[in-house]
Amino acid sequence: MDARRHGWSKAPIVEILIPSTLDDTLAPKGAHVASLFCQHVSPQLPDGTSWDVHREKVADLMIATVDKFAPGFKKSVIARQINSPLDLERTFGLVGGDIFHGALGLDQLFSARPMLGYADYRTPVKGLYQCGSGTHPGGGVTGAPGHNAAREMLRDLR
Ligand SMILES: Cc1cc2nc3c(=O)[nH]c(=O)nc-3n(C[C@H](O)[C@H](O)[C@H](O)COP(=O)(O)OP(=O)(O)OC[C@H]3O[C@@H](n4cnc5c(N)ncnc54)[C@H](O)[C@@H]3O)c2cc1C
Repeated sequence: MDARRHGWSKAPIVEILIPSTLDDTLAPKGAHVASLFCQHVSPQLPDGTSWDVHREKVADLMIATVDKFAPGFKKSVIARQINSPLDLERTFGLVGGDIFHGALGLDQLFSARPMLGYADYRTPVKGLYQCGSGTHPGGGVTGAPGHNAAREMLRDLR
């Protein structure tokens, strides 16, 4: 509700990974890199302002949230890179920062994914198929869109 009304949750869920515990080439000796996967933010801010204005303060909130459960975390941060939904869109082409390449709402599943008329993994170009998060059944580490696309390719080959 906060994210809808305000743009981001005041009590967000943050998933933290520290990959340098497994690969010590990622950070100088004695230091680490941590990635914070922060949820419950709105791609479009309700007051119409840009994520460019709010990026830093929302990052502060995310770090403070981790600090509540892991005291000292905040003090240990010497540098940070922030990817707001807008940054994810600009850098990786994820529209609205959506990690599933389009929300998995009922209006964007089944025959409506990626759009009506194009949900059978074929494209207007003969022999060119599509799969991945943008196609049914959508994002997630399932391999299901690829499986379905391969099934359609085999069907066309036979
Ligand atoms: C931050 C984040 C967190 C996520 N968390 C979860 C989670 O917890 N659980 C979950 O189920 N899903 C999660 N997802 C979503 C999930 O990762 C994706 O939906 C899924 O990986 C999509 O699979 P895919 O095979 O379609 O594409 P991808 O996994 O993106 O694979 C596409 C591959 O194609 C390669 N490629 C691109 N262009 C070319 C080219 N021209 N030539 C050759 N290779 C190319 C890319 O390098 C990449 O390896 C998350 C996504 C993100 C971004």
